[in-house]
Amino acid sequence: MVVVMEPKASEEMVQDVIKHLKEMGFEIHRSDGVTHTILGAVGDKTGIDIRQLEVLEGVHEVIRISEPYKLASRSFKRENTVIRLGDVSIGGDEVTVAAGPCAVESEEQIMIIAETVKKLGAKLLRGGAFKPRTSPYSFQGLGEAGLKYLRKAADKFGLLAITEVVDVGHVPLVLRYADVLQVGARNMQNFMLLRELGKVQKPVMLKRGMSATIEEWLMASEYILTGGNDQVILCERGIRTFENYTRNTLDISAVPIVKKLSHLPVFTDPSHGTGIRNKVIPMARASVAAGADGIIVEVHHDPDHAKSDGAQSIFPYQLEELMKELRIIARAVGRTL
Ligand code: PEP
Ligand code: MN
Repeated sequence: MVVVMEPKASEEMVQDVIKHLKEMGFEIHRSDGVTHTILGAVGDKTGIDIRQLEVLEGVHEVIRISEPYKLASRSFKRENTVIRLGDVSIGGDEVTVAAGPCAVESEEQIMIIAETVKKLGAKLLRGGAFKPRTSPYSFQGLGEAGLKYLRKAADKFGLLAITEVVDVGHVPLVLRYADVLQVGARNMQNFMLLRELGKVQKPVMLKRGMSATIEEWLMASEYILTGGNDQVILCERGIRTFENYTRNTLDISAVPIVKKLSHLPVFTDPSHGTGIRNKVIPMARASVAAGADGIIVEVHHDPDHAKSDGAQSIFPYQLEELMKELRIIARAVGRTL
């Protein structure tokens, strides 16, 4: 961290800043230039609120050199984190596809979809049992029954199950049924939930909040990582912008940015990222081309009658087409599928 003093800062002001930096545990390297005095502060910056320095008299600017997140960063761990679940590796050479309905609606529905997505090459079966809906009048999910059906379908067809945990009190319940626990966009900064998930021994997919910066998203992952759970998958699912031709704006550029900043696997969710069925496939292709480690996509055998997110759920024949295209793209960017 570097503190740049104002040109007219007095020696007293400089000494006051030095005193604060020392109290914060930093070692100081001072350099007096023609106009500015610059203080290089070396030490652990985690937990420091730089605004406390910015408000001191005579301070022109405080520049952070290292990232505020630590365990999630590439400077902490250079190699990619690869999460192994049976014979599935997430974050390695292979691109992983998670597919399934927005919500588990019935045993029959999840069975039909599970069979299809397995046949087409998906490794994970998605399906929400507890749905965080904008309206309390919308379908809220089947709860534990939904988890049971999801587990049964995943086991029957040899898939891994991923489902959302919306509440800290539900963690033990969801853990009994899921292989990967999903934290939804609306819960990205539910710090109690994140801390609880830091204690579990299963991978967590952390969706990016719809108005979260990349740094806030990585800081959220840090809550899970500091608890001792190093199996975190990040998922870009679209952010809220002024554009309203799509439900959200899928920030594809977040993929290469986060891949550079962090060693964690990065997925995208082109379904919630666009909200429109015919936009899902192009954005899924773009995600893999941009270096995503996987996608999570909503698929429904009868989307016109889906209880949630039918308009953004692709048909099985579209998933088949998409898988073919993703195989070509994966190969083109040095990956397999
Ligand atoms: C979901 O994947 O079902 C979901 C609700 O996604 P998000 O949290 O990204 O809105
Ligand atoms: Mn959905």
